[in-house]
Amino acid sequence: MKKISILGTTGSIGTQTLDVLRKDRENFQLIGVSANSNAEKLLHIVEEFKPSYAVLTEKKAYLKFKEYFSNKSTNLKILFGTEGLNTIASLPEIDMVVTSVMGMCGLIPTIKAIESGKNIALANKETLVVGGELVTKLAEKNNVSLIPVDSEHGAIFQCLQGNKHSDVENLLITASGGPFRGKSRKQLLNVTVEQALKHPSWHMGRKITIDSATLMNKGLEVIEAHWLFNLPYEKIRVVVHPQSIIHSMVEYKDGSVMAQLASTDMRLPIQYALNYPKRGEAVVNRLDFYNLQNLSFEKPDIDTFKPLKLAYEAGKIGGTMPAILNCANEEAVELFLSNKIKFLDISYILEECMNKFSPRNNFQLEDLLHIEIKVKEYVKTKFGK
Ligand code: NDP
Ligand code: MG
Repeated sequence: MKKISILGTTGSIGTQTLDVLRKDRENFQLIGVSANSNAEKLLHIVEEFKPSYAVLTEKKAYLKFKEYFSNKSTNLKILFGTEGLNTIASLPEIDMVVTSVMGMCGLIPTIKAIESGKNIALANKETLVVGGELVTKLAEKNNVSLIPVDSEHGAIFQCLQGNKHSDVENLLITASGGPFRGKSRKQLLNVTVEQALKHPSWHMGRKITIDSATLMNKGLEVIEAHWLFNLPYEKIRVVVHPQSIIHSMVEYKDGSVMAQLASTDMRLPIQYALNYPKRGEAVVNRLDFYNLQNLSFEKPDIDTFKPLKLAYEAGKIGGTMPAILNCANEEAVELFLSNKIKFLDISYILEECMNKFSPRNNFQLEDLLHIEIKVKEYVKTKFGK
């Protein structure tokens, strides 16, 4: 029986993780759950899964949730904020932490989990983008596995099994191209939030859906892959594959390419990460090759979807530059979602922040937290009026 905590249980990945657990109750026990503000959804989760700990990171929601239990007899421990997340990420009784919060707020709890020797099923890519160097070193030191949940990295992780790292020629990260594939910058000038949120193949949280529309998501994934698989950026390529059936590929030095294919359903990479090195019974629809569409491939248009280009640049510059880029993006996406800026302003803001803020090579966790405050404040003040 694996005991787990899920950080960000009420989100898209959190909810799909619960579905995987629901189908395999004899092998998993849910110990810790969290939400930011969605107290109601967390309540349903608590009633169904009966975890020992529930965390809310938004004050009002925390108080509302606590109030609900005030005159009930319960063993549930209700905690607040990052401290609460740190607690459920490091409980002595758990084996694994699923990191599925949105944004770099996952960084500190992930570090706490690693320091406590918990294996990580990692969905929260911003953590690796911002703190890849610190996190991967710490994981190595504590003998902790970082098992990717992101579908592309989950695919690469599977394609690497049984092969030598030194034989890898290239990683090929597939991209759906998002809702605006094939559009010109001119056509993107006035696209709305609603249009950007209409992803052709995946239903995800709002922030990652906007990242998919700008191709920033692919940029974040390139940096994530760099840290997870310890390969230089020159060996990490992006291939647009609109059908999202091949979830990514590994090319070996002899020219052989291994690909992982499956239906477009996040529950498979989640299930693989939870069960690794074992495999569970299918929770997703099996592929039907007789009825599959053609699989097609194209080069990403990095002049129109500039965030992907900027992410490669930030990754290659290294140090704290990916953190600067990520923080600028988190704030820019927030501004776009609240209709304060236009779609193309996102890439403009990223570029401006990369020019304005100087990266550092030697840095600690505190430096990253400082960058978060400075960069987000700058973007909000300058562009959020
Ligand atoms: P969602 O927005 O759907 O869910 C985010 C979760 O984090 C929710 O539980 C939310 O709580 C919580 N949360 C939000 N803000 C905070 C905060 N400031 N502090 C603590 N908790 C917070 O996101 P997704 O599930 O789509 O994505 C989660 C992560 O997984 C992201 O890093 C994303 O890039 C990655 N990912 C997602 C994929 C997907 O298919 N969705 C695919 C691959 C990676 P509440 O519900 O109360 O707001
Ligand atoms: Mg992905």
